Amino acid sequence: MSIDPSSSQSTLQSTTQNALQIEFNQGLCSFINNSPTPFHATAELAQQLDAANFIALDESEAWSLEAGKNYYVTRNQSSLIAWTQGAAPLAEQGMHMLGAHTDSPCLKVKPQADLYEHNSWRLGVEVYGGALLNPWFDRDLSLAGRVHYKNSAGQVAFAMVDFKCPIATIPSLAIHLDREVNQNRSINPQTDLPVLLACGDKDQHKALNDLLMDQLSSCDPKPSNILDHELFFYDTQPASIVGINGDFIAASRLDNLLSCYVGLTTLIESAQQAKPSWSLLVCSDHEEVGSCSAVGAAGPFLQQTLQRLLPNTENFARAMSRSVLISTDNAHALHPSHANKMDPNHSPKINGGPVIKVNANQRYASNSETQAMFRAICDDTQVPVQTFVVRSDMSCGSTIGPIVAAELGVKALDVGMPTYGMHSIRELAGSRDPLWLKAALVQFLARTGQ
Ligand code: ZN
Repeated sequence: MSIDPSSSQSTLQSTTQNALQIEFNQGLCSFINNSPTPFHATAELAQQLDAANFIALDESEAWSLEAGKNYYVTRNQSSLIAWTQGAAPLAEQGMHMLGAHTDSPCLKVKPQADLYEHNSWRLGVEVYGGALLNPWFDRDLSLAGRVHYKNSAGQVAFAMVDFKCPIATIPSLAIHLDREVNQNRSINPQTDLPVLLACGDKDQHKALNDLLMDQLSSCDPKPSNILDHELFFYDTQPASIVGINGDFIAASRLDNLLSCYVGLTTLIESAQQAKPSWSLLVCSDHEEVGSCSAVGAAGPFLQQTLQRLLPNTENFARAMSRSVLISTDNAHALHPSHANKMDPNHSPKINGGPVIKVNANQRYASNSETQAMFRAICDDTQVPVQTFVVRSDMSCGSTIGPIVAAELGVKALDVGMPTYGMHSIRELAGSRDPLWLKAALVQFLARTGQ
């Protein structure tokens, strides 16, 4: 039997593409699993940048930067900026930048959280960001974050903690006790969301601070007492590939750790080119609560970092006029049960490729110039591209794109990965889309200065 050489060639190509996709998605899933909070996501980004020969800088020290080298800096252990120093002057080349965010909607533990009542020990929580609350019930939850303490030497120190195992849950009320639940369920965050740790009387239990002291037992010098904390509950179910044909990635925090990971791997690949150009990745905390903080996209972190690369005011303005930002976040995918929620001509499909997000009222930063740039890149790299515009009778979300564009005066574009269940504790994205986004973004960074 003869074999058509062109068909065996294309089979080989698709097998290679499949292997690349599986490897990439495995890396994405383990990045998400290792990043239950913005602190852990930032540490994970830093660790992978260290492994790729990026040099860690301290904001409080003087910097001496060299062309051709790669650097990163963090603020508050929850936001990170990494970049490649190009060989040409920055003022003449400009910077191609990728933006994403490290935070996701979740439940944050209150400062004095212990609640002992009705034969239970629970912790009171605040809702962080616009969380979809229903999916938080009946999950195997764990707890992670940052703890500040006084140590045995009398100093204030901090450490990251992650309990890793399922230490808590929020049980649903049985349908027999609320017959209307499937028609009219509403959730009161104050009374319905306290997270259950244990049953029994108060004298049978410790307090949260005791649990934290146990977590910090290996710190040296030893902690003497807990001073404060920022702790977030998360789902212990790991990220996984789902669907009869493996079409989906199901995970917590796909919004927006998916984009952080795509941005990270894109920047690392771009830094390994023979002639690296000026390229930057910013991953900001606090996007889900409006970005207005010392470490959020509306704060000065990115501008101050860029000014240190280019202190001369005129050169800075020249560089910004040649720079472009792509803000990568998630986009709503056409949901098969709710097709009427989308504009019929702008309904992105899962595994249909990256989505250009457009909004006349500047909720997204895209304009025809940056959209055309990205469409041309997708065309050249054979990446399918889609467009999202919200229905004209509905309101629109936003991203760090317009905020950074307004801060720096750079051209910007909003791009997203099609997603179901955005802001649920378990979101769903396509398994083919992330690698397509990366292919387009690698090409975007290669075109700095063009
Ligand atoms: Zn987002």
